Amino acid sequence: MSATVAIIGRPNVGKSTLFNRLVGKKLALVDDRPGVTRDRREGEAALGHLRFTVIDTAGLEEADSASLAGRMRAQTETAIAQADVILFMIDARLGITPMDQPFADLVRRSGKPVILLANKVEGNKGKDGVFESYGLGLGDPVPFSAEHGEGTSDLLEALAPFI
Ligand code: GDP
Ligand code: MG
Repeated sequence: MSATVAIIGRPNVGKSTLFNRLVGKKLALVDDRPGVTRDRREGEAALGHLRFTVIDTAGLEEADSASLAGRMRAQTETAIAQADVILFMIDARLGITPMDQPFADLVRRSGKPVILLANKVEGNKGKDGVFESYGLGLGDPVPFSAEHGEGTSDLLEALAPFI
């Protein structure tokens, strides 16, 4: 049985972009528009010498906002329950937003190992957001760019003990 890694975070931070990079196929839908329908995806990931199962928590479904929040929460909780280690992702260009907090709370409450990925920091962007993310209480952030592959070796190093 390979280890399971769940990518957790609010919509639009870059979870599916990382999932696609890890799985190597365009299995997860990437979309600019918040709120498009996206399914939960699972794939076999390769990162350097590491092999593991990765879960992309997606999903906003078309629904009223009350049931939307509930569904996202349920999906996130399920993925966290299945995970041996969690990748918690933020958009460092936007910093910590109110919407990040409930996702961070679920991760903290799980007590599972977590790696904090401060995404979208290619080309020296998002430094304030990286600094801000220390305040989540999820450990030291790994500056990352899912789109450009920056920070991959640091992610590999952080993940290796759990795989
Ligand atoms: P998800 O909702 O968390 O799955 O986010 P997506 O992977 O769908 O990405 C949302 C948007 O952010 C898309 O427009 C991506 O192209 C963009 N994005 C993802 N990763 C990066 C990154 O490292 N840098 C930048 N600049 N944009 C990114
Ligand atoms: Mg997605």
